[in-house]
Parts: sequence; C-alpha cells; structure tokens
Amino acid sequence: MKKSLISVAVLLIWALTVRGLALADDPAPAVTADQAIERLTAGNLRYVEGRSVHPNQSDARREQTAAQGQHPYATILSCSDSRVPLEVLFDQGIGDIFVVRVAGNVCGVDEMGSIEYGVEHVGTPLLVILGHTECGAVTAAVTDAHVHGSIKPLIDRIAPAVARAKAAHPDLHGKELVPSATEANVWNSIEELFAHSEITRHCVESGKLKIVGAIYDVKSGKVRWLGEHPRQSELLKK
Ligand SMILES: [Zn+2]
Repeated sequence: MKKSLISVAVLLIWALTVRGLALADDPAPAVTADQAIERLTAGNLRYVEGRSVHPNQSDARREQTAAQGQHPYATILSCSDSRVPLEVLFDQGIGDIFVVRVAGNVCGVDEMGSIEYGVEHVGTPLLVILGHTECGAVTAAVTDAHVHGSIKPLIDRIAPAVARAKAAHPDLHGKELVPSATEANVWNSIEELFAHSEITRHCVESGKLKIVGAIYDVKSGKVRWLGEHPRQSELLKK
C-alpha cells in the first residue's frame, strides 16, 4: 500500500514537471483568438476610413523582429490577387500576421504545411481563411473557363465549392454564382484542413486555435467576417 502511494506521488511529480516544461516551451499567446479578430477588425476599419496608422513598419521593428524572432498573432490564408494586400487592408506591419497566399485561397498540401507551421510552431491563436469578391480563380471555376498548365489542377480544387453553390442556388447561372461559390470555397478550405491536417484539428480541439472564414470586398475595402465553420463540431468528429 505504502509502495503504491509512493509510486502515485512519483508519477504525480513527474507529470507536473513534464507539464511545467511543456508550458515553459509553449508560452501562451499574447492575445486570444477573439482579441486577434478585434485587432484585425480595427485595422480594417482604419483602412476603410482612411485612418491607417501603418504600425510596426519602422527600422526598429524590423531590427527587433530580426533579433527576437517572429510572434505574429494570426495566420491568414488568402488569394494571391494583387488587390488583396493583407498588411495594407488590415493596417498591420512587420511580424504581425503569418500570411499564406495562393490563387483562389485553396488549401492543398503546401498551403496546409504553411498553415501548420503558423498555427502550431509559430503558435498563432487565430487562423483566417479569407476569400474575396471578384476572385478570378473562383470565376474560372464557376464558368468552367479553359485553363491550361498547372492552373487546371488548382482550379479543380474549387470545383466542390462551385457544385455546392449550384446546389444551393439552382436558379442562378454563370457569374451570378460567383459570390456564393466564393463563400463555399472558404468553407471548403476549412473542410480540407479538418480532413487532412491532424495538427490543425488537434490545435482546434485543444482550444489553442480558432478558425474563421471571411470575405474581403475589393471595391469597398471591407472585410466581412463569416465566423467558424457552421459544421465544425461535426467535421472534427470525422
Ligand atoms: Zn482571387
């Protein structure tokens, strides 16, 4: 009996020490996911209202981040479109956001690897999948445009979103489907992550990460937040 009590005590001390070490190696992020959304929302509002302050773009900030490493507070997957410059539209600077950009904000293996680096290794509490209006890649997928070379497999990744938009809006045709397909494509990238990235799933399940969708309007400059995937808990169970 005494022996087993000692074993339990030893085990407990070991567990606490390991836990302590794990916490020491894994500091809590300076901001929560909701604070990160607030920060991005405030930056976007400054941008839209012409009050951008261009934070963290000084020589001192560059030197500080070079010496101390990066501690961005959000990972963002968005489109390569030149009208969607993230640091500009969120009024952010050096070392603030960990950015993955690819035409159509699709989520293939390379994007997934970059996202896993951002959310697990760098440890951002927030991941945003940002689609945008007037997206050429989504439009190409919707209109079944003739594309060649390596563009074809990229556009093919958007096909499930187009199918979903068509099913939801049988009355719409051609380019009328683009807004709905753009939103479905944001959800599609989140679904790809949950289906194929165990690391991302684990980060969400353990409460370290929040994933939200959003759409950027290239005309107004405004970001419209979509929130978490409506079927997130169901997708995580799969
Ligand atoms: Zn685009």
